Amino acid sequence: MTNNNMYFVANWKMYGNQSSISSINNVIKLTKDKKFRKIRIVYCPPFTLLRSFVEKTKNSKIYVGAQNCHYEIEYGPHTGFINSKMIKDSGSKFVILGHSESRREGDQDKIINKKIKSALSSNLKIIFCIGETFNEKKNNQTKFVLNKQINVGLEKIKNFKNIIVAYEPVWSIGTGIIPKINDLEKQIYDIKKIIIKFWKLKNPKIIYGGSVNPKNIAELKKISSINGFLVGGASQNSKNFIDIIKKTIN
Ligand code: PEP
Repeated sequence: MTNNNMYFVANWKMYGNQSSISSINNVIKLTKDKKFRKIRIVYCPPFTLLRSFVEKTKNSKIYVGAQNCHYEIEYGPHTGFINSKMIKDSGSKFVILGHSESRREGDQDKIINKKIKSALSSNLKIIFCIGETFNEKKNNQTKFVLNKQINVGLEKIKNFKNIIVAYEPVWSIGTGIIPKINDLEKQIYDIKKIIIKFWKLKNPKIIYGGSVNPKNIAELKKISSINGFLVGGASQNSKNFIDIIKKTIN
């Protein structure tokens, strides 16, 4: 792989507490190595750890992101939620939106579209997740589903330069199963084609997520059109996360 400007997004999901933060010491150390100076690492811990992660990573090249936000940009009576302004205020620079685990909790394309608009107006960068379920894949609906998620999710959004699309087949998340390399290459190509056509972009950033681990990364990195990886389970163990990075950038 020739592209060193790769993204490595660590999604900690609903794991981690204050005592877990020191586990990223070796990742911080890695970013000081000249060989890895061009990569972009984004840690997305639970909301409760955002500020601590920002403090911890302040002298490094690691960015911090949240895992979701409310669509309402103004403060208001939404018990249990936080908005994009609050994420920005924590010092975080990114937010994951449209993750299949948030879609499972009720986030739909139109709501995700509102969230993206809110996050962009708070000057956050977006990791916009899309992906088909196992049944949709089985019924040959992948193209249709991805098209809909992109077209509704990104409707009337012009500022694409702050958006990274994460292709995450739902059937691959947390299962240990990854797509066949040819299939994945085709999906990435199709996603880039839609975005280039509608958003008139030369080189949109598409990352892949779904059971990325130190064993399968050698296979996945063969796809030169992928701009990075969103890593869930394996990112909670720094040794595995570092392994993934080192095996990608060599
Ligand atoms: C994710 O959380 O987006 C993800 C891809 O998880 P995992 O790597 O565990 O499949």
